[in-house]
Amino acid sequence: MANSLLITGASQLLTLRGSGARRGAALANLGIVKDGALLVRDGRIAAVGTRAKIEAMPEAGSAEKLDLGGRVVLPGFVDSHTHLIHAASRAEEYELKIAGASYEEIARKGGGILNSVKKLRAATSEALKKRARCALTQFAAYGTTTIEAKSGYGLDVASELKILRLHRELAAEQPLDIVSTFLGAHVVPAEYRGTPEGAKKYIELLTEKLIPEVAREKLAEFCDVFCDRGAFTRVQAEEILKVGKRNGLAPRLHAEQLTRTGATQLAVKVGAASCDHLEQVNSGDIAALAKSKTVATLLPGCDFHLGLGKYAPARKLIDAGAIVALATDYNPGTSPTMSMPMILSLACSQLRMTPAEAITAATVNGAYALRREKQIGSLTVGKFADLAVFEVADYREIPYYFGMNSCWMTMKRGVVVHAADEAKA
Ligand SMILES: [Zn+2]
Repeated sequence: MANSLLITGASQLLTLRGSGARRGAALANLGIVKDGALLVRDGRIAAVGTRAKIEAMPEAGSAEKLDLGGRVVLPGFVDSHTHLIHAASRAEEYELKIAGASYEEIARKGGGILNSVKKLRAATSEALKKRARCALTQFAAYGTTTIEAKSGYGLDVASELKILRLHRELAAEQPLDIVSTFLGAHVVPAEYRGTPEGAKKYIELLTEKLIPEVAREKLAEFCDVFCDRGAFTRVQAEEILKVGKRNGLAPRLHAEQLTRTGATQLAVKVGAASCDHLEQVNSGDIAALAKSKTVATLLPGCDFHLGLGKYAPARKLIDAGAIVALATDYNPGTSPTMSMPMILSLACSQLRMTPAEAITAATVNGAYALRREKQIGSLTVGKFADLAVFEVADYREIPYYFGMNSCWMTMKRGVVVHAADEAKA
């Protein structure tokens, strides 16, 4: 006997209906149903429409009932860029940055990513898992139902595998979906720095040992490279991504964040699922993205936290026709937040995206960036019943209220995974 749930009382039901990734004007089309309802069967959406239409279905009568009391419902957020597993915050560096030290100065002093690497290598799997579990609870509390998670704070064989195995264990024991990405090419670790041959040897470790092992154990779907000054060059990134691809790991890239390296053009060339950051892109990069299926993933939380004052040119990207997504970039150095609503607020006020464009970028296009657009990202028949319910009268209030959480309920595959106190009553 099927397990059915009738959900009613959505003053605005943002279906995001339609197929494929959204470009240009299509980003603004939320497919809103007023006084909407959903019928969920075995964790998937069986029907979606107006309350009158859904309640009239024979199955609705015998289904379990959930009335949302006139709140706004949208697909659960798909956060397509996070660094979930790390050992500790870097609050001490935050203070240095406020005093004027640059991100790269801090990195040169052994801070930055290498600081997180040192702490991660010393941490037990149990401690890392405990911290990640708390973060996952927070992601759910802000309406996120799927996250991508990258390795990259281990940077040796044992520690990178430790992170990726934790992705798998966490995916099995808690409700959110975790899409695993191998980011062994985050930076060159301390023990390989300082000699001309160092970077070359580390890349050999990645391409000859780690990537094949990650593929053998099926620990990741994607291979990512941080292509920037102080990290990896475009030539090195291409070599790593090609080996990843040969081993079945689809490419994605950290591109044009601090400096323009040509990583965007590389992302398009290798058919990357996404290239992320893009603060420094030029018009040629924007034109290349517009013609490609590579998602332009913008991470305004990072620019906000670093106080750099320079955001990615979202308007130009959207108007040119690129597939724009938004993600938190949750990480201890540059974007310590799990709040997708805060990212939407930044997208609206700083990137000049409309609330509708920002919501599409954080749902449908996030799903496309993770190659899961057939399963999640919109409230469409056949997709998983992953949804977020907000305590607002109008969807525009989701980014309008900033720095606070108005997510009232989050549901993953038809099961409540977060409920505000009033929703529990
Ligand atoms: Zn990142």
